[in-house]
Amino acid sequence: MKKEKPRYNLLQNTVWMLRLSKEERELKVPLTAAGLSVTAVWQQTAGMLFIPAVIRVLEKQGSIGELLATIALFTAAMMVPAALNRYLDANQLFPRISVRVGITARANRKCADTSFPNLMDERFLKLKEHTIAQTNSNSSSTEAVWNNLELFLRNLLGFIVYLILMERLPFWIPILLTALSLAVFFCGSRLSRYRYKNRDVLMKEEKKVFYLMEYGDIVMPRMMKDIRIFGLKPWIMELTEKTLQSIYDFHRRASARELLSGVLDLLLTFLRNGLAYAYLIHQVLAGKMDIAAFLLLFTAIDGFAAFVSGIAENLITLNRHSLNLSQVREFLEFPEPFSFEDGEEVPKASEYTIELSHVSYRYPGAGQDVLHDISLRLQPGEKLAVVGLNGAGKTTLVKLLAGFLDPTEGSVLLNGTDIRRYNRREYYELFSAVFQEFNILGLSIAENIAQTTGPIYREKLLRCISEAGLSAKISSLPEKEKSFLNRTVYPDAAEFSGGETQRLILARALYKDAPFVFLDEPTAALDPLAEEDIYRKYGEFTRGKSSLFISHRLASTRFCDRILLISDGKIAEEGTHEELLQKGGIYAELFLVQAKYYQEDAAEGGDPDVR
Ligand code: ADP
Repeated sequence: MKKEKPRYNLLQNTVWMLRLSKEERELKVPLTAAGLSVTAVWQQTAGMLFIPAVIRVLEKQGSIGELLATIALFTAAMMVPAALNRYLDANQLFPRISVRVGITARANRKCADTSFPNLMDERFLKLKEHTIAQTNSNSSSTEAVWNNLELFLRNLLGFIVYLILMERLPFWIPILLTALSLAVFFCGSRLSRYRYKNRDVLMKEEKKVFYLMEYGDIVMPRMMKDIRIFGLKPWIMELTEKTLQSIYDFHRRASARELLSGVLDLLLTFLRNGLAYAYLIHQVLAGKMDIAAFLLLFTAIDGFAAFVSGIAENLITLNRHSLNLSQVREFLEFPEPFSFEDGEEVPKASEYTIELSHVSYRYPGAGQDVLHDISLRLQPGEKLAVVGLNGAGKTTLVKLLAGFLDPTEGSVLLNGTDIRRYNRREYYELFSAVFQEFNILGLSIAENIAQTTGPIYREKLLRCISEAGLSAKISSLPEKEKSFLNRTVYPDAAEFSGGETQRLILARALYKDAPFVFLDEPTAALDPLAEEDIYRKYGEFTRGKSSLFISHRLASTRFCDRILLISDGKIAEEGTHEELLQKGGIYAELFLVQAKYYQEDAAEGGDPDVR
């Protein structure tokens, strides 16, 4: 994804992760992270104070009891945080996974609920891909960020504690240590970044060598003749050598930088610690510092420097996670062009009329309208057929009527009201449909047809199965309508052919029993006899409903009340089958062509499907 300013910064994203852990009832995630940080710093600090404390007892010639007590106290002070740390560490993984899975669930809901046009939006799709990548493993940002927050907190705490411990040092020492540690860190990371930043260059050269030396066409027997006849060998050798040379050069350049980074690191560290140690030694020699304090500060200086560079490193990593999290949030908050719960309720009515009023539609990025200035009314109980050549815009028309797309111009009206005002999810309740692409879920046949988690009405279910012509198939299964589908989920699932699956989808559309039934090529996968059977039953199963039927097969539209022929983005012809044949226009021409093939095919005994 191209570089752009993230919508949310690191602080905002940290607050968001905290809020999410609360929503997922996993507040133990941030608490554990904090606990791990505190116990780690506690253990490290106790370890550092241990030897100076023992020396102090020895220096003042304390009793053996005092010595043992000191040792016991410090041992306990180191063991308690170590044990707590172990315990917290063993329990941090699953709550973190659970928060990440919570984000995955939100992303899945977003995909399932989003306005249909978003599914064609390039940015939405890119953000979706990104969100999947950032939620699919323990190392993705939605989980790994906790580890980095924990380390950051640990380094910050350590920094503060050690700063306090070094309070007797002059102020310039911590400042010098901080400045030089940051310099060590940034010089080092800048120099060693060369290999990472230029990894594409290396990969390209390595691919070439791989081709030239290993599996490329060059070593294949069929190239051997060409190599000999055209004297290609010296040329190939030269090419291989050149590529190898550029790989060596790359590694030399990268190693030189890494070496320089190492030397610089050493020098700066030497300077940093050297100056601080020189001060400590001077203090001891001048009699202003005892050995115990010297030892403590000597260790503290190194630890303090490590905390500073740790903080710098954590901030860089956290910033990377923050960029990723920002995009995940952008996906989850992607604007919805449709109204859902914020829309008005769809009024209950005994009859519904849908109307397209001067509707034009253009797909995003397309140069022209697919449909232009179309006005059309689907009356209650009407059976409308829509025909036209491939790509004429028939499916787009259905998507507009069913509220999957909003017109670019004009409006879709339900009983006279623009559907944009309504809760789109309620609007979808009015439709039942068979689309060209369909999916079968890994559920039972009954659940696939009823598509509900509520009760399934058996009588209605069996009626729909029968109307869709599936009774014989389902009766032949040992578990009947309770048989499971989808072999990837259930190894012993029932197998359905393409045609049977299409009938199942039809049964599903019938079960929904909605006022509108839209069928987009519902018989494409059926054989001609099965298709004829569906046509005969069409009137029966759309009784009392408004229906829209898309078909390539013009003869199949005969039983519809009205036929629309879409051409050049417009309704080119409109009428009954007979009227359109009489008119002698495009419909009549297409019908005659199909009829001719149909008869020829039938005469030859071939498949009469002329699609
Ligand atoms: P039909 O159902 O009549 O075959 P469609 O409505 O599916 O036609 O498609 C009409 C035109 O719109 C076609 O040219 C198709 O390529 C184009 N089209 C369909 N879907 C999209 C889309 N998501 N993005 C861009 N163009 C599309």
